[in-house]
Amino acid sequence: MRAEIEKIVGAAALDEREVRDHWPLGLMEERDGVQRPKVLVARPAGREQVIAILRWASANGVAVTPMGGGTGVCGALAPSAGELVLDMGGFDRILDLDETNLVCRCESGVNGLVLEKHLNERGLTLGHFPSSLPGTTVGGLLATRSSGQESSRYGNVEDMVLGLAVVLPDGTFAAPRPGPRSAVGPALHQLWLGSEGALGVILGAELRVHRLPETVVGRGYAFSDLASGLEAMRAVMQSGIRPLVMRLYDPEDAAFGGYDLPAGQCLLVIATAGLADVAKAEAEAVKRFVADAKDLGEEPWHRWDSHRFSLSAERLKAFLEPPGAYLDTIELAARWTVLPRLHADVKSAIVIGGLALCHFSHAYEQGCCAYFSFGGSADTEAEARAAYGRAWEGAMTAALGLGATISHHHGTGQARARWVADEMGGWMRVWRAVKEGIDPTRTLNPRALGGLS
Ligand SMILES: Cc1cc2nc3c(=O)[nH]c(=O)nc-3n(C[C@H](O)[C@H](O)[C@H](O)COP(=O)(O)OP(=O)(O)OC[C@H]3O[C@@H](n4cnc5c(N)ncnc54)[C@H](O)[C@@H]3O)c2cc1C
Repeated sequence: MRAEIEKIVGAAALDEREVRDHWPLGLMEERDGVQRPKVLVARPAGREQVIAILRWASANGVAVTPMGGGTGVCGALAPSAGELVLDMGGFDRILDLDETNLVCRCESGVNGLVLEKHLNERGLTLGHFPSSLPGTTVGGLLATRSSGQESSRYGNVEDMVLGLAVVLPDGTFAAPRPGPRSAVGPALHQLWLGSEGALGVILGAELRVHRLPETVVGRGYAFSDLASGLEAMRAVMQSGIRPLVMRLYDPEDAAFGGYDLPAGQCLLVIATAGLADVAKAEAEAVKRFVADAKDLGEEPWHRWDSHRFSLSAERLKAFLEPPGAYLDTIELAARWTVLPRLHADVKSAIVIGGLALCHFSHAYEQGCCAYFSFGGSADTEAEARAAYGRAWEGAMTAALGLGATISHHHGTGQARARWVADEMGGWMRVWRAVKEGIDPTRTLNPRALGGLS
């Protein structure tokens, strides 16, 4: 294989190494001595090279997985021996920024934070802030259907995409279609969002950008219980206010974050943004919906804002270094009426090792994401994996039983493989048909969406 790929990209763009994302179970196995095979990594330098590689791989039965920043947390990026990885880092150009129509055209290997800084220097923002932003690429953000801290105002990644440029496994190139919206058939490019590299390689995107808000006004409020905090969030979202940030931390998560609250209280951090008078008026209006809560002033907002990227991929790895340690996050979503029960059931399922936290962020008029963290330390690696597995099993069972989605934004990869079909039901038939129609040789990422057996 190496000789064939070398003919396409040249020797300097080839490397052989272990490749994996930040799936905690993968990191735990690595700590226990399970080695990943070294695989061939090609760094293509243009559309024609990607087309040639995919054509060759499809014809020769070699699996190909596109790779961005490697910050995925679900084991979607974990190639086996004999497979090929496409490192999209060479596609790192911001091609065009139309400051009148607010459209940015960029390649898929552009780093998420580099793009945001480029926009900020021109008074603009993409409005997409996953905690992992500094390590991500545009292609990865799209292929995982990611979500950022300001999603309640700017939406999730699917709301930011006007068009995509992709290469299919047979080498077909599809360019962004005219917009800003079209009714010429379904918005097929949306199939690539959440496809985890299974349908083709994203070369670039046309993204909707926004003018930076003139003012941001943020505050914290303490609630005596979770239910009243959730009710306040629901009322804010259903009032028509679109907060820049709105996050409710349960008592354990608030304490873990270093917020100083009386025992048993929940913390709401909320910020409004826009023209100065609008942002301030919205901040005042928020007070109507948090009547019973204690106003903590601006400090909790400033604290949150200064730590918003503190949970880095490196920190996650460091947490998992000690033998026997286990840790993961599980982000579910459900309607408002389901969230209190989801919170109670999942917390009791994941508390096995002592650490069980939850906050609510990414709010909609209909419901919200519930983001759980769990962890602990076991005497042996086998016990650590067993406890980790029990926490996942309990959380997934609770979510499916309550009609919650098993992933709001991390995706599925290998982590949720066992439960994907349970949530998808009849849509699995559609996914199968799409995958088999576009990629009949199953060339692209065999581990996406749990894989097809
Ligand atoms: C500490 C930490 C915090 C995180 N916080 C968030 C968060 O707040 N919100 C959130 O949504 N996620 C979060 N994540 C998860 C992760 O950062 C996202 O899933 C991110 O979108 C992955 O981007 P990436 O470039 O690193 O992709 P990778 O990990 O490289 O790849 C992810 C998937 O996308 C596919 N892919 C990558 N590039 C392409 C391409 N060009 N074409 C086709 N397929 C491609 C890969 O094959 C793989 O299946 C976090 C992760 C960590 C470690």
